[in-house]
Amino acid sequence: MSEGKLNIEPEISPDVFRNFQRLCEERKAESVRKQPVLEARNVVKRYDDQTAIPDLNFVIDDIEGKSEIITILGPSGCGKSTILNMVAGLLPPTSGEFLTFGKPIEGPGVDRGMIFQRYSSFPFLTVLDNIAYPLVHVLKKPWKEAREVAKHWVDKMYLTGAEKKFPAQLSGGMQQRLAIARTLSARAPIILMDEPFGALDRKIRWEMQDLIAEIAFFQPEHEFTIMLVTHDIPEALYLGDRVWIIHQGRIIRTEFCERPSEPARQAQSRPHFLELVSFFNAQIDQLVIAQEG
Ligand code: ADP
Repeated sequence: MSEGKLNIEPEISPDVFRNFQRLCEERKAESVRKQPVLEARNVVKRYDDQTAIPDLNFVIDDIEGKSEIITILGPSGCGKSTILNMVAGLLPPTSGEFLTFGKPIEGPGVDRGMIFQRYSSFPFLTVLDNIAYPLVHVLKKPWKEAREVAKHWVDKMYLTGAEKKFPAQLSGGMQQRLAIARTLSARAPIILMDEPFGALDRKIRWEMQDLIAEIAFFQPEHEFTIMLVTHDIPEALYLGDRVWIIHQGRIIRTEFCERPSEPARQAQSRPHFLELVSFFNAQIDQLVIAQEG
């Protein structure tokens, strides 16, 4: 299915379908800036003789006054990490190009922050200096100002008291909060997350989802776009303004989802949410069967 269009599927209940449709209509009424946040133009990626991404095209608009989260779902091996790494500038496309705010991506840049499942922070720096270091060395701020900004993000990411600790002394959830603080403090307009909560247990995962909802939807400090790759369907639906399903390197489905109105743990046990999860689950199961068959 092409991006932004809706498809009537017999297995969707009329309520769920109407909701997709309403959200899609609301999106059309939003005011967008001239240059999109991110664009893929005819991107192809081959590894040796295998084509991982045959022809990728998308536009992520820059919506005035709004941060947005795009979550990316799909069976293992469908090309999610390849797409994210190309946007990060860590992997060049074989042909075609990505653009951020109208400029071609030619490598990593301060406009894009990347958060991996593990090891996103400097092991030899304290929590405070992990946040301050890129502000000094990349954004050329004086140390004093950088540490003030860092302290603000330490508090905002619920890391108060851990300023002088090293990453190895932190729990998995705290390490990811530190990685997020580092990226957001540098005010990157694009944040790329590859299975950021994949190593965390369910309870900590819910807490991280609540935190992302807080910083993106309820108390944003600047506008940004998050692209988040996840295997976890409830996580994708809870956090995603827009959910992409990828199959064999193509975006085969785009749906718009409701923003959260309650914490992850409660929201994800509601019947209408479970119905959405089972709808997406069925879609992805079909793709896995198609991929294996
Ligand atoms: P996903 O993140 O959805 O699991 P990937 O982007 O990692 O998928 O991989 C997409 C396809 O490209 C897979 O078939 C994978 O085997 C292949 N691939 C990924 N990285 C490499 C690489 N460095 N060399 C060769 N093939 C690769």
